[in-house]
Amino acid sequence: MVCTVLPPSFRGSPLSTESPGKLRSSRSLCPQQIVYQASSNVDQPTLDSLSRAPKQRALLEFFNKKPSATKDEIESAGFSAAIIKSLEEKKFVERTERSQNAMELFSPLNSVNPNSLKLNSQQQQAFDAIKLNGDKFNCFLIDGVTGSGKTEIYMQVMQHHLSEGRQCLVLVPEIGLTPQTVTRFSNRFDCPIVVLHSGLTDNDRLEAWRKARAGSIAIIIGTRSAIFTPLPNLGLIIVDEEHDGSFKQQDGFRYSARDVAVMRGREENVPIILGSATPSLESLKNAESKKFSYLTLSERAGGAIASATTIIDTANEILDSGFSEQLLCKIDQHLTAGNQVLVFINRRGFAPILSCASCGWIAECEDCVSQMSVHAKPPSLRCHHCGITKHIPAVCPTCNGGALGTIGVGTQRLEKFLEERFSTIPVIRIDRDSTRSKNKLTSMLNQIQTGEPCILLGTQILAKGHHFPAITLVAIIDADAGLFSPDFRGQEFMAQTVTQVSGRAGRAKKSGEVAIQTRHSTHKVLTMLTRTNYKELAMYLMEERKAASMPPFAQLVLLKAEGNTLNESMNLLQQMNKVSIRLIQESNSNIRTVGPVPAPMEKKAGRYRAHLLLKAETKTTMQQFLTQFVYQIDQIKLSRNLRWSLDVDPREMI
Ligand code: ADP
Ligand code: ZN
Ligand code: ZN
Repeated sequence: MVCTVLPPSFRGSPLSTESPGKLRSSRSLCPQQIVYQASSNVDQPTLDSLSRAPKQRALLEFFNKKPSATKDEIESAGFSAAIIKSLEEKKFVERTERSQNAMELFSPLNSVNPNSLKLNSQQQQAFDAIKLNGDKFNCFLIDGVTGSGKTEIYMQVMQHHLSEGRQCLVLVPEIGLTPQTVTRFSNRFDCPIVVLHSGLTDNDRLEAWRKARAGSIAIIIGTRSAIFTPLPNLGLIIVDEEHDGSFKQQDGFRYSARDVAVMRGREENVPIILGSATPSLESLKNAESKKFSYLTLSERAGGAIASATTIIDTANEILDSGFSEQLLCKIDQHLTAGNQVLVFINRRGFAPILSCASCGWIAECEDCVSQMSVHAKPPSLRCHHCGITKHIPAVCPTCNGGALGTIGVGTQRLEKFLEERFSTIPVIRIDRDSTRSKNKLTSMLNQIQTGEPCILLGTQILAKGHHFPAITLVAIIDADAGLFSPDFRGQEFMAQTVTQVSGRAGRAKKSGEVAIQTRHSTHKVLTMLTRTNYKELAMYLMEERKAASMPPFAQLVLLKAEGNTLNESMNLLQQMNKVSIRLIQESNSNIRTVGPVPAPMEKKAGRYRAHLLLKAETKTTMQQFLTQFVYQIDQIKLSRNLRWSLDVDPREMI
């Protein structure tokens, strides 16, 4: 298996695994366009000869009005590829290749934009610092609370670069790429913009790349793979919500788009802005060590009032479908006052567990070491790891007793409960299951924008980029999963999610309230989060990481093996571990290995998994080691079903 640790260079041919399929195939990168035109011998008798093929005749007549046209243009005029082909075979139509090199650069904008807002003093300070740096490389970290006007700063800095004819690349998280985000940029800037996301067809993506590469696109907005877009006149890179997990590619070529963005900024000598209300510990450390220039915005722009946080201790309470009586009262109060409420739970489905009360049987996925979730719509058992679906058994398959029941709550169960409890109020559930169709999500978001009282219920999807001005209460159903996560970044993620979700409340003139349910109300992380702020909590977590020599104070690499049996996977990693120990001794480098051990999720989608963790003090030490190590383990012969992969800076260790 080949493993690419370093991203490709940007100046050469940036062909990553994420570049459009068509670019990776043998076709040349040089933009060529196929155009069709009527042959010179087409005359009236030719047209008459086609009286029994009216569509073919109509296409020839179409060429009378438009002497040459691309396939897309012909197809959008209503002619199929088959019609073009028939005419081509009869030699009535000719095809030629036209070079697209003649594509024009976009026209620079004015340096002043009439729609720019007057910056408040904090925004102005941040803007001035970025402006003072000029057009050369520097990485700015804007740590600004939700709604503090980061996007306004991005846009004003972009205005400067666009007015000098330079292209701007804006990276946003997967779920942040909403129509609202794009509209904000297209309303502000009158210049060519493309949006790059994973849903594009190969053709659309190729077209966008060509235009970007020719310099005719001014602004590229996209999710992580957009970082590889070839841009001849790059002026500025922005990574919004830089802490977001979706910037890390989890399969194949596992890069962090944020880190690649910083490298690209340095290599092309252009400024880069990272922005977040909850910066990652990695970026905060870089700010502390002055690698990044740190800028803060502590107040909400536009006069919105920050929200107050309450902890609801549920340790001694019997919950009703996940809700304490205190929380239900709060929800009732806010709805009665004519406001909207947001209920957040990070688990979709009806319930995470189906179990038998008589014998203790639990519905488990046969292909993964994991229980199956119960879904109500449609009724089924589903594995969230491999996607397998099964019928819900009528009786317990082990003891044949009938006492099957669900344990725990997911979005669908809360939905059912809330609909019954607040029967006159619409409940809008937003999670991965309810938003498979884009239109449905848009119509749900529109309903919320009307401002009428409603309960908005959802997962992580709600934590990103949306503005819900009528929401005055944000309820976090269960903070404990994050507090006691096996992942060493669990508390950081929990703090980010709570802060981000809370940022959805009180955005308008109404003040907001955040209520967090927990069975561990005195947990230091929670009390810090409510009494101080994300930044102070992040600094506390940073000290813990430092003491434990964990990232960002160490560089981790996770070596994963996957085989038909656990033995096979473990054996492979043992062999690799021997190589690593030998190399570490030879080079006398400061690297530790932990394992191999069976992965926390030992079996996934029918494959047995094992992990070996490598830990170094610095990136450089690890890079030097990996060059040798990867070369040597690549020589190990693998049996047919055995696979391994190397994850630099792993985000998920399950
Ligand atoms: P962020 O990106 O930090 O979440 P936004 O840039 O989206 O913040 O700003 C939040 C809201 O405040 C938006 O409605 C925006 O139009 C408004 N806003 C931003 N800056 C200003 C300003 N200087 N004056 C008035 N309103 C502002
Ligand atoms: Zn049973
Ligand atoms: Zn499964």
